[in-house]
This record gives sequence, structure tokens and C-alpha cells, in this order.
Amino acid sequence: MELSITRSKNLKSKPDDANLGFGTIFTDHMFNMDYSLDDGWQAPRIEPYGSIEMDPATMFLHYGQGVFEGLKAYRTDSGQIQLFRPQENLKRLNRSCRRICIPEIDEDFALDAMKQLIALEKDWVPGAPETSLYIRPTIIAMDPFLGVRASHTYRYFIILSPVGAYYPGGFNPIKILVTSDYVRAVRGGVGEAKTPGNYAASLLAGEKAHDAGYTQVLWLDGVEQKYLEEVGAMNIFFVIDDEIITPELNGSILPGITRKSVIALAKHWNEKVTERKLSIDEVIDAHAAGRLKEVFGAGTAAVISPVGQIKYGDQVITINDNQTGPVAQKYYNAITDIQYGKAEDPLGWVEAVT
Ligand SMILES: *Cc1c(COP(=O)(O)O)cnc(C)c1O
Repeated sequence: MELSITRSKNLKSKPDDANLGFGTIFTDHMFNMDYSLDDGWQAPRIEPYGSIEMDPATMFLHYGQGVFEGLKAYRTDSGQIQLFRPQENLKRLNRSCRRICIPEIDEDFALDAMKQLIALEKDWVPGAPETSLYIRPTIIAMDPFLGVRASHTYRYFIILSPVGAYYPGGFNPIKILVTSDYVRAVRGGVGEAKTPGNYAASLLAGEKAHDAGYTQVLWLDGVEQKYLEEVGAMNIFFVIDDEIITPELNGSILPGITRKSVIALAKHWNEKVTERKLSIDEVIDAHAAGRLKEVFGAGTAAVISPVGQIKYGDQVITINDNQTGPVAQKYYNAITDIQYGKAEDPLGWVEAVT
């Protein structure tokens, strides 16, 4: 497949690196490619960033048949641009596609197209500490049809957004709320796919958590409401004694690449890391016994996010005196140093763009 490139004639002015928020500014170009039953994936092209025209009956709008990814490009001190484990994102995109009945894309071609788009937009990759270029590959169902079935046509697009440090106020612990009123995903459902409906399903619980003064919801399993799952845009880790524990993948937890990287680094360093079922009661008991040392989230946006407080029913537990702990700090430093090219890349995670 030949990738065509049409350059924008009206380049935007670039924002100040110091004032980047998250997901509000978009670059000059985007990638587009279309699928039809007869031609498969075809017409890959980089074009000026712009609207996608849609029939009001477009299936994605009505039934949510879509999948997406989220990763970042980083600028190193020497000005090179690099990605962190992008093949993992494309593999996961195809796994999500299989679950949502969307035709898979060619991962090698998709990686090359992504790199070409980022290379064209390289001046949009910010250089200030902790900033990056967020990459959002997305596939949506395009048939104009109100019947319920898998669409016969799709659009794959990639948009890019320069983003700032996730925590403008610094690397401080967050408060999370365990809800028993709602679940994010159920057994046999779509929890392990990166699909928009999972986010729609989580919004109400998220708003209630915010109203109660909590940053995020910590989800319990959808069957017994007993076992910890994840935070909804981050996976979750607990340090009990000297063991790092994260809930095992069970079909309803999103298999995070940051999660996978924390586990791989722990193994590389010969630290005790376990993936298993972990109940909220076990965490509360470990805390009462003084054995719960740290809790932290792991996801692309914030990398590592220390948790200082957890509320479950009437109980509120404070972890590590509401301070960032040494384990969270160590993994944050190690992963971000690899991402920004400040440290060796012992596990071969970095992919150069320029
Ligand atoms: C994307 C996502 C994560 C984190 O995955 P990363 O690959 O580490 O960014 C965790 N949970 C959910 C529901 C997600 O959508």
C-alpha cells in the first residue's frame, strides 16, 4: 500500500511548551485509512487535520462500534524523537478489534504510517520536562445503517496532541474511591478492550467520586464486587510487605502497557512481583496490620500515580502517610528515564522516529 502525503497550506502556530494542558491542541496533519469489504484496508494517507464528515446514521454514533489506543512520542535531550513500546499498542488495538468485530490492521504498516506522521509533525513534539506528543489511533464503524450488526466499512485515523505534565502540581498522591454501586466491566464483557463504551459506563461513578472529593474510582470486579480490578484509565499496584501485587488479567481488566512494563522491570530487577486476585478486604486487613506499604496506579497518561488514600464504604485508609513512596518513585523514574532517553533501555522498549 502506498502512503500518500498532502501537506497543509495553513500551518497553525505552535503553543508554548509551558502551558500545554491535555488533549485540547491538535497538530497540522492526521493519518486516515478506510476499510471496505471489497478492498480491505486501503487509501492510507496523511492529510491536513480536519473534520470527518459523517452521515447521521453512521453506525459508530449509534452503537459505539469503535476502538482506540493512547501512546506518546518523547523528545530526548539531544532532540531525537522516540516512542515507547508502540508495537504493544498496535497489538492491543488488534486485540480490541477482534472483540468488537472490527477488521484488523497490518501492524507493521500501521507502525510505519504512525512514524511517518510523527516525523512530519516532529516540530510539534514539545521539549520541556515531562511534556510529550500524545498519539490517539482510533477505528470507527462508518456504515450509514441503523440495523444492528458489525459495520462493513471503517475509518482508521490517528490524531496528535502536544500535552503537558500530567500533574501540573507535581507528583503527589491521589485519593481514590472504591464503589460498590456501579461496575465498569463484567465477566465476558468488553472490559479488556480499549473501546469507548467502557468510558461511557464509568462516567457517572467518576462524577460521584469527584463530588465526594476523590480523583478516581477504584473498580471492583463485576461479579462478586469483592476483587480489585483497576482505576479505569490506569491499572493498580499494591506493595504489601516487600511484594508488589497487581490484579491478574481476567478479561475485564484492560491489559495496560505501563502495567506490563512495571512487571517486566520488577522481574528484571529480581523483585517480588505477583499477578493474582486481590480482594479489597485483603488490602484493608494488610493496612490494619501495617503491611500495606504503597499503592500506585500505572498508565500512559501519568505513568505512575501514587495513591495516598482509599475510601471503601465507611472506611478510609491513608497509605504511606499520604506521601509518594520509594517504590512508586523508583518505577516512575525508571520508566520516564527510558522514555526520554535519559537511561539505558535494557529491555529494548524504545523505537526511534527521527
Ligand atoms: C488505556 C487504559 C489503561 C492503561 O493502559 P496503558 O497502556 O498503560 O496506558 C488502563 N485501564 C484502562 C481502562 C485503559 O483504557
